[in-house]
Amino acid sequence: MREPNDLSAFWMPFSNNRGFKQAPRLLAAAEGMHYTSSDGRSILDATAGLWCVNAGHCRTQIVEAIRETAARFDFGPTFQLGHPLAFELASKLGMIMPEGLDRIFFTNSGSESVDTALKIALAYQRARGQGSRTRFIGRERGYHGVGFGGISVGGIVGNRRQYGTMLGGVDHLRHTHDLARNAFSRGQPAHGAELAEDIERLVALHGADTIAAVIVEPVAGSTGVLVPPVGYLERVRELCKKHDILLIFDEVITAFGRVGKATASERFGVTPDIITMAKGLTNAAVPMGAVAAGRHVYDTVVENAPEGIELFHGYTYSGHPLAAAAGLATLAIYEEERLFEKAITLEAYWADAVHAMKDLPHVIDCRNIGLVAGIEMEARAGAPTKRAMEAFHRAFDSGLLIRVTGDIIALSPPLILEKTHIDEMFGRLADILKAID
Ligand code: PMP
Repeated sequence: MREPNDLSAFWMPFSNNRGFKQAPRLLAAAEGMHYTSSDGRSILDATAGLWCVNAGHCRTQIVEAIRETAARFDFGPTFQLGHPLAFELASKLGMIMPEGLDRIFFTNSGSESVDTALKIALAYQRARGQGSRTRFIGRERGYHGVGFGGISVGGIVGNRRQYGTMLGGVDHLRHTHDLARNAFSRGQPAHGAELAEDIERLVALHGADTIAAVIVEPVAGSTGVLVPPVGYLERVRELCKKHDILLIFDEVITAFGRVGKATASERFGVTPDIITMAKGLTNAAVPMGAVAAGRHVYDTVVENAPEGIELFHGYTYSGHPLAAAAGLATLAIYEEERLFEKAITLEAYWADAVHAMKDLPHVIDCRNIGLVAGIEMEARAGAPTKRAMEAFHRAFDSGLLIRVTGDIIALSPPLILEKTHIDEMFGRLADILKAID
């Protein structure tokens, strides 16, 4: 007989279930910059949940918007119907996207946004009479969620080991992580723009007329905060344009102020054809994702379709009222508190704090952009990931939530943080790293 609070029933995602259930870490509440653990400890959130609670936890405006909407209008379909909240959010979102990317398709997660973007790319190519363009180009170390499209264009070893072949017709650019040339870069690393030329090699191999789209994260987050080398994204953009290939930026992490602007596209001055997002869109209070498509993409798919449904795709919960209400309240907070600019205002202070970790034991790289950082540790001989995992456990026990991926510590705090929080985070982290052998 199991107890009602037995932990074994929940098959936890991306977790070591066996290890966790022997020593569970449970969160019970959250407010502002902090979580409260189930044993009543305050935990400073250096990760904005999972890169998503950009405006800080349990914001009253968002809570009230959800509450009010839930009581008034629980659900309404958006297939051949609509409700004002979804249209209003799409308009507002379109206004903060790069010029021209204001046709918004709603999803419920980053993974769904990625698969939606890939399908839109295929639909676009067919609609303009280029149906032979069915291949995709992703990148090594790219993370694009967990749908079959996303794991196929992604470059995560674990997916390949567990799921095998996946979507056919996908190639990968080399990743841009290069400690030999770029270790301890502040902001964008100097070396690596030439890696974009991989697109030329793949075009030479397959023919441009077989390639639908290139998808990359402008800053790769989940595989350890890989900041694009100077000139790299610009060159990717140029080559896609040259070969008439769509460019998709997966901005699930980078959108909504993480790098100091509404999008990384704006920060780096490079505009793709399609942007995927999720996370910060609703401050994570209700799951929601979105795809922003350029007008040229939308017009081609919609105008050239035969009479009837143009894009054969959608989710029951696309534009869900509670998510739309949360999204509107979230965008209002971002604007009122000028939170996107916050990452720019604090960037130098943040970078100094990140790079002060340089001489701590086992640290082999520190990197930063906006309010995100990666601190890479040397893997323990014969036990990769163990050192960073130990840092994670020690941090949690001492009241600090960090994220680890491989042997990299990834930090991405809520954008409401103050300098004192930065001092506290890195002060604690330094103590933790000093204690790890
Ligand atoms: N794309 C990127 C770039 C991401 O970082 C993530 C999540 N970390 C996803 C897609 C998937 O998002 P979700 O977990 O909401 O499906």
